[in-house]
Amino acid sequence: MRFDGKIVLITGGAGGIGRATAHAFAREGATVVLAGRDAAALAEAVKEIGSDRADHVVADVTDPASAVGMVETAAGRHGGLHVAVNNAGILGAAGPVADIDAAAWNGVLAVNLTGVFLSMKHEIAHMRAHGGGAIVNVSSNIGAHGRRPGLAAYAASKAAVSVLTRTAALDHIGDGVRVNAVSPGASDTPMSLLPGETPAGRAERMRATPSGRVADTAEVAESILWLASDASSHVVGHDLVVDGGVTA
Ligand code: NAP
Repeated sequence: MRFDGKIVLITGGAGGIGRATAHAFAREGATVVLAGRDAAALAEAVKEIGSDRADHVVADVTDPASAVGMVETAAGRHGGLHVAVNNAGILGAAGPVADIDAAAWNGVLAVNLTGVFLSMKHEIAHMRAHGGGAIVNVSSNIGAHGRRPGLAAYAASKAAVSVLTRTAALDHIGDGVRVNAVSPGASDTPMSLLPGETPAGRAERMRATPSGRVADTAEVAESILWLASDASSHVVGHDLVVDGGVTA
């Protein structure tokens, strides 16, 4: 029970990787607070995990007031905040750079980058005033590590999350707040399907990769738990790639 008595906030907690991560933390003794925009999806995820171990808060991470409310609600209801997983993200519009609509670009950056910044800003402020904590940002192997034509906004946002993670880690390790990132490769959620692709088609595409398959969301979750746990206590500002060797 690595997280007995710990309060863990997970943005995008009703989605694929977020939900698997919430299950994993709850199994290890944590109380998880799932955040996202869709109240019904969050309530369903809480029911699945068990309302004795899970709670939800409706929040839009792109909105400054919503982000601070999310952190205050999670910590206020449960008496603290020890771990935060900033996982909310969107793929956004695909296409070559010259054809990307500026509003679509801004929309991706708002969720994937500004959302992580706003969430971290308030999580760190709480943690440094209450004895420290651990933060894991969910980036992507398409950001700092990989190449993927047609996903410029997503790739740029995720590369920025990896850099933001390192900077925040250096800024706040002295406050007792450890910040790291996990960069998954294609994982078993709809986000890893190319437009119009079926899971079977994706499996065929993945056979050409080193591991020959997509990641199970539980494998990504396990890396997040390790970075959030005391087992990684001297790991600071790291970006852990979990992609079966795609970027090796
Ligand atoms: P997902 O199932 O679509 O989950 C994304 C979650 O983000 C949803 O629960 C969504 O909830 C939430 N979200 C989106 N916009 C939000 C906003 N403005 N405010 C609050 N929550 C918001 O996707 P996933 O595959 O689990 O991805 C999770 C993370 O892993 C993302 O950051 C993604 O970029 C990253 N990742 C995924 C893969 C992959 O292959 N799946 C690979 C690399 C990286 P609401 O819509 O209810 O708000």
